[in-house]
Amino acid sequence: MRLSRFFLTILKENPKEAEIVSHRLMLRAGMVKQQSQGIYTWLPLGKRVLDKVNAIIREEQNRSGAVELLMPTLQSAELWQESGRYDAYGKEMLRIKDRQERPMLYGPTNEEMITDVFRSFVKSYKDLPLNLYHIQLKFRDEIRPRFGTMRSREFLMKDAYSFDLNREGAVHAYNRMFAAYLRTFSRMGLRAIPMRADTGPIGGDLSHEFIILADTGESEVFCHKDFLNFDIPGVDTNFDDVAGLRAIFDKWTSRYAATSEMHDAPAFEAIPEGERLSARGIEVGHIFYFGTKYSEAMGAKVQGPDGKEHTVHMGSYGIGPTRLVPAIIEASHDENGIIWPKAVAPFEAIVINMKSGDEACDAACEKIYGALLNAGVDVLYDDKDERAGAKFATADLIGAPVQVIAGPRGVASGEVEIKDRKTGERETLTIEAAINRLTSGN
Ligand code: ATP
Ligand code: MG
Repeated sequence: MRLSRFFLTILKENPKEAEIVSHRLMLRAGMVKQQSQGIYTWLPLGKRVLDKVNAIIREEQNRSGAVELLMPTLQSAELWQESGRYDAYGKEMLRIKDRQERPMLYGPTNEEMITDVFRSFVKSYKDLPLNLYHIQLKFRDEIRPRFGTMRSREFLMKDAYSFDLNREGAVHAYNRMFAAYLRTFSRMGLRAIPMRADTGPIGGDLSHEFIILADTGESEVFCHKDFLNFDIPGVDTNFDDVAGLRAIFDKWTSRYAATSEMHDAPAFEAIPEGERLSARGIEVGHIFYFGTKYSEAMGAKVQGPDGKEHTVHMGSYGIGPTRLVPAIIEASHDENGIIWPKAVAPFEAIVINMKSGDEACDAACEKIYGALLNAGVDVLYDDKDERAGAKFATADLIGAPVQVIAGPRGVASGEVEIKDRKTGERETLTIEAAINRLTSGN
């Protein structure tokens, strides 16, 4: 991508409304624009990051055996009357009427709708286990939307729903998602902590929130500090291995497990003060086993191996991609801007032409840019007619992991500089060596 043809909407001034660093940087780097309270346009730079986040989520959902579909944002109130949640949900739900005066709503979540899809097609235990997910916009009329897309009213959610014949199957489905979530966040350069969560009036013991540590987070976490060094399940994880996934779950929910309150953890007194971690964090995912709450109310049953009808056991599993993007920024930035982990960077590299219009600089940059494009590197070429200082500031702000800097003096001797955005380290290389370096990983 040539910057001269891109739509990059950098802000020079610090936006007054931004209270936390990720919100400030997302506005300054031109990633999002607020359209009305808690409702955002994702501008091209932000959209690139969001797409990469979604791609990782999708890959890991698929790897774990979940199957993607797409449900609508607008739902009929009838489904929610069936489950009993239409009246219970309260003011967070945006209720609307169509021209026939039929009550509709903008979905805040999809348990009812997926249960309806399930009961329309699945009649036998032989079609289980089943896990269906989508990545779709949700609307919740949050009482206090804030921090940009971190807590917005319209937001994207990956929501998955599992269906099993019995509790045992549903627990395995839960463990599958548990492992998939650890992998998902780790691939984004994040260490997410699964924290035992309140299951509320539904009861049961199986609910975890996945928390990313950040001082600006709204959640409080307590755990043993070693917990932060646990291994992430590998790419070869067998998601059909019941015992193997159980072992992963047990390890992460052992006596070191994270909780939201000190007194929640029975064994917490056992952790010496110096080894205790207490921190703030951002909830980026939430998984839940809720048994037959919706399947019972909505008649989602299958015929079991015994020939009898069984109400299916369900779980739901959410991740908020539009919250994850600012959470990644909270975890990875400095005073000059964003530092993207490569896997979610809007561009993996930026080529900075320090003197656009200079024949030798233009030729060197075009050569590097072309070679990187050919090798499949997601590269941005700053070909604009601007002073070098402004280009450096932009490159640091938008946070591409690697910068290739070409100036007249270096180019005259066939050399460019490579700067690592994270460490700030610079290295002078020949143009060929720079190309090799940047294309070798791809
Ligand atoms: P919170 O406690 O932060 O309001 P929640 O418990 O209501 O979250 P869930 O219903 O479990 O959230 O939704 C699943 C995921 O969707 C959350 O983990 C979060 O990543 C995301 N999410 C929820 N509400 C919002 C919001 N208002 N803005 C952005 N993302 C959200
Ligand atoms: Mg909420």
